[in-house]
Amino acid sequence: MNPSHYKAMSAENPFLGPPGAFFISIGVPSTIYALHFGCSETNGCPPNPTQIPQRVASALSDPEWWKGLWDTKATLMYLAWYAFCLVAWAMLPGSRVQGTMLRTGEKKLYKINAFSTFLLALCLTFCTIYLYGPHSFTFLHSKFVNFITASILVAFVESVVCYAASFRPGALLALGGNTGNFIYDFYIGRELNPFSFGTFDLKTFNELRPSLILWVLVDISMVCEQAVRRGGFANVTDSLWLVLLFQSVYVGDSLYYESAILTTMDITTDGGGFMLTVGILSLVPFAYSLQASYLAFTPVVLGPVRTIMILGFNFVGYWIFRGANAEKNDFRNGGNPKNLKFMTTESGSKLLTSGWWGCSRHPNYFGDLLMALAWSLPTGFSTPITYVYVLYFLVLLVHRQRRDDEACEKKSVVVLASSEFYMYGKDWHKYMQLVPYRIIPYVY
Ligand code: NDP
Repeated sequence: MNPSHYKAMSAENPFLGPPGAFFISIGVPSTIYALHFGCSETNGCPPNPTQIPQRVASALSDPEWWKGLWDTKATLMYLAWYAFCLVAWAMLPGSRVQGTMLRTGEKKLYKINAFSTFLLALCLTFCTIYLYGPHSFTFLHSKFVNFITASILVAFVESVVCYAASFRPGALLALGGNTGNFIYDFYIGRELNPFSFGTFDLKTFNELRPSLILWVLVDISMVCEQAVRRGGFANVTDSLWLVLLFQSVYVGDSLYYESAILTTMDITTDGGGFMLTVGILSLVPFAYSLQASYLAFTPVVLGPVRTIMILGFNFVGYWIFRGANAEKNDFRNGGNPKNLKFMTTESGSKLLTSGWWGCSRHPNYFGDLLMALAWSLPTGFSTPITYVYVLYFLVLLVHRQRRDDEACEKKSVVVLASSEFYMYGKDWHKYMQLVPYRIIPYVY
């Protein structure tokens, strides 16, 4: 085995290098808190702009405010949730699926049972609510900020351990995360698959289970909170039900098609660093649920016409997202049920050039963006804060698309040295001519 497979130095700095990585590492957790405090019943959503500097200054200088971020019970509950996901992964039956080929020429095996974990978690949640009423499940709402703190702490500790463990001999390093700069590598992730043994893989586990499933549980907690305030589930607003429906379907879809994650950049390319870990453990459940958190204290009634329009909008996004991801997934698994056109690259690997993948180079991002907007529309237009998610997601996906373009093109430089591993190089330019749009067909 060529040792260069394990360690491939990268000089690329797609996140503005170590200073960028440092500021984003602090910025992401701060943003999660800011969104919570900046869109709340007590402070307003958003708070009066003229009062923000003074409020922030007084909060930051108040030891009681800092103490309020921590709650031992919430931390233990978060750890119990994480442990539940681990036990469910180990105990629930699941098929075994191979991942994509690693630079070593090996393929990892993954246990597929995220969807059954989701069903089990939902079952336990609904039983609790049925037996003890909606107030029994409002703790995620009432201790929201404490759960944020717990998740950030777990993400930080895991990232430190993963970074330290990546120095053991034989660890397969991520192409982008071993520049030698501690801050940058800690952020991007030095090892490609940290804590990966047998059919367990920490990155895949974190991405689907403690994060995505918790996001739906947070939404359910917001519905329970509104039910308590408005005198029962019958009085919960259509807008909040819509947000719960959309986000549950999105999460359920990701978990049902669990093996599709194995061909995504997070798994094939990015290391297990703080960027990914805090993004999935903290940002997803506690920032992506912002629309539901807002609606818990701001009941918005849409009525049938607006409800149907938003449902239709979300459906179009879902249709594109699911269609595009299914086409690529089938194709990467050796199928082509729609007989789509493709080009064969010099490496032997193939790229779709018709169907959704003929419309743009990332049609799945386009569908995802439409859905993100559909999730914000139920909150109405009284606040811009619930649309921050759409803006953030736009920036993330535009940046991600550019990263993927570069990765597909430039990975060849590293990989040509190790002859058996394919990448696209100049074929990627041919592909870009055939499919010129990046995300939105005929627009971008
Ligand atoms: P993709 O699933 O689009 O995967 C990109 C890879 O697909 C490329 O590296 C390439 O890898 C392969 N590929 C590119 N073009 C073609 C083609 N024409 N034919 C066949 N294969 C091709 O990207 P992501 O991993 O970024 O996203 C996965 C999903 O996750 C998306 O739906 C995205 O919207 C969603 N997502 C959601 C986020 C969230 O926070 N909710 C965050 C990020 C993503 P190769 O050729 O080596 O197979």
